[in-house]
Amino acid sequence: MQSVQTFLCDKHPLLKMDRIEVSEEGKKENFGVFKCPKPLCNRFYFLGENCGYVDSVGESPLKGKLSTNSDPQLRCSLHKSPLYLSAFKPNGDESLRIWRCAHGGCEEMKTTIGETYCKRPSNAPVR
Ligand SMILES: [Zn+2]
Ligand SMILES: [Zn+2]
Repeated sequence: MQSVQTFLCDKHPLLKMDRIEVSEEGKKENFGVFKCPKPLCNRFYFLGENCGYVDSVGESPLKGKLSTNSDPQLRCSLHKSPLYLSAFKPNGDESLRIWRCAHGGCEEMKTTIGETYCKRPSNAPVR
């Protein structure tokens, strides 16, 4: 059982994304959206099958336009939904990333090493 899920920005993997509440107009339902805390970073993670990590162009992730996902995303082999970045161990070119499925109770986990999936953060803090 997974008690706490940590969603990291895939562009700034040292930063934990904040969960924000978003409700679509006309719907009372809230759904899970996470945002990178870094100023000027418009990276969001949407829970859902075809969402995952997206860049938002605009203030609100719903009112603004979402860029289409050009990056291939790792997906759960069972749920087909994009995995989120759950852990990051910086180690230069051999940095380790652990990706998990956001579905409750799903055990899917993938590990990537190096920068094969993500671009290197351009303005990463030194420490
Ligand atoms: Zn970010
Ligand atoms: Zn899954």
